[in-house]
Amino acid sequence: MIDLNIEHGMFLSAQLKQPVGGRTEVRASTLVAAAGGFEANIEWLKEYWGEAADNFLIRGTPYNRGAILKMLLAKGVQEIGDPTQCHAVAIDARAPKFDGGIITRHDSVVFGIVVNKHAERFYDEGEDIWPKRYAIWGRLVAAQPDQIAYIIFDSTVVTSFMPTLFPPIAGATIAELAGKLELDAAALEKTITDFNAAVQTGTFDHTILDDCRTEGITPAKTHWARRIETPPYLAYPVRPGITFTYLGTRVNKQSRMLMKDGKPSANMFAAGEIMAGNVLGKGYAAGIGMTIGSVFGRVAGREAAKNARN
Ligand SMILES: Cc1cc2nc3c(=O)[nH]c(=O)nc-3n(C[C@H](O)[C@H](O)[C@H](O)COP(=O)(O)OP(=O)(O)OC[C@H]3O[C@@H](n4cnc5c(N)ncnc54)[C@H](O)[C@@H]3O)c2cc1C
Repeated sequence: MIDLNIEHGMFLSAQLKQPVGGRTEVRASTLVAAAGGFEANIEWLKEYWGEAADNFLIRGTPYNRGAILKMLLAKGVQEIGDPTQCHAVAIDARAPKFDGGIITRHDSVVFGIVVNKHAERFYDEGEDIWPKRYAIWGRLVAAQPDQIAYIIFDSTVVTSFMPTLFPPIAGATIAELAGKLELDAAALEKTITDFNAAVQTGTFDHTILDDCRTEGITPAKTHWARRIETPPYLAYPVRPGITFTYLGTRVNKQSRMLMKDGKPSANMFAAGEIMAGNVLGKGYAAGIGMTIGSVFGRVAGREAAKNARN
């Protein structure tokens, strides 16, 4: 645990609380904050999401609770970013609360349909190329009742996407599958029958925006729509998987934190998730998380080293 002691925008000291209870004061001339977002702090998430946040799963470390971010903001650093915005994907509902990692993420949405607990579709599963859209599904599921949804597909596509830690739930019939998912069988049968009837014949190619689409249903599936008709029928239950939050400390081009009075801090820098909001307003495209960490990590490290030498 680290306490920051900042006066007049200056970082003066860090006090390390040792596990044995002792306290050691370390004076540092420069600080680089790289302690992640507040995604693992469910109470903080609840301030924006309400009780729904109890059903969120956190994909990474349980230690990114935003303690350093909160301290910096309280001590006069300017904040940036919408606190409700985050990188959130659909992950297996059977994943652990924290640290499920990459192997719990489901990339199968484009190969099937997604229904909520009322067995109703709620969004175009084929809106755009997957790397541009996979990170919207966490928020979409978060907006559904009880923050649960089900990706439904059939046996013809089961080898088309990366396998995950959890096997799909299977049923020889739609009704059997519905029973295992505790969904209303008649409602799921109707959703799939309506979807199948709306599918237009096209040439399937999930690497481009192909011409396999539906007609006459809402929401439409605008690409990669194929009938779900070959048993066994398969499903993954999914919940919002929060990767990282966007609220952060405002920085300038040197990755130097800006104070509430608009002035750059004399010696405090930030890199990674803790300043992600400088780059990400909302939405996401694959790879930006690591890019923010590595680019601003390098810039902040270089500038902090220069600062320390002065
Ligand atoms: C499962 C998963 C998959 C991902 N996949 C991708 C991907 O494919 N592509 C991509 O670009 N990005 C991906 N990301 C995002 C990317 O990994 C992160 O954006 C990046 O690692 C963030 O780096 P960081 O240094 O800011 O934070 P982190 O790597 O999270 O490091 C922050 C560290 O600070 C520590 N810490 C927090 N609070 C305190 C405190 N009070 N005191 C002391 N230490 C503290 C934490 O323990 C942690 O070690 C993924 C993230 C996860 C969780």
